[in-house]
Amino acid sequence: MDNTHNGRKVLIVGNVNDERRSEGFVYVQDFSPSDRVLQALKKLGLFWGIAILSILIPVFHFVTVPLFFFLGLFFAFRSYKAEGKVLGGETVCPHCQYPVKIKSTELQWPLSEICQNCARVVRMERKEVV
Ligand SMILES: [Zn+2]
Repeated sequence: MDNTHNGRKVLIVGNVNDERRSEGFVYVQDFSPSDRVLQALKKLGLFWGIAILSILIPVFHFVTVPLFFFLGLFFAFRSYKAEGKVLGGETVCPHCQYPVKIKSTELQWPLSEICQNCARVVRMERKEVV
């Protein structure tokens, strides 16, 4: 499913923790306040669903039920704080010039993606528009 073109295009600058930079872009979908509540509730529902199911696991449920209960709260809060969603994007690795695909993820700057060629972590910041 390719829905990358529904979003807003944001230019990014990638780096591998040195002075080299690479250009790229991501497609971003901004969340409205009600979207953010909805996303948070989805996370809560997912983790609390797992928590309820894990009641059925003998012995381990003493650990898994509270664990997923709190993970649910944690991820729900993180979703609520997310400004939006990255639909996908592309840049090149500043180290080896290999194309780096940016996967769909929650929008939290800086983004990071691992170069499939040299295994360096490429950190991506919003490019300042002048
Ligand atoms: Zn690389």
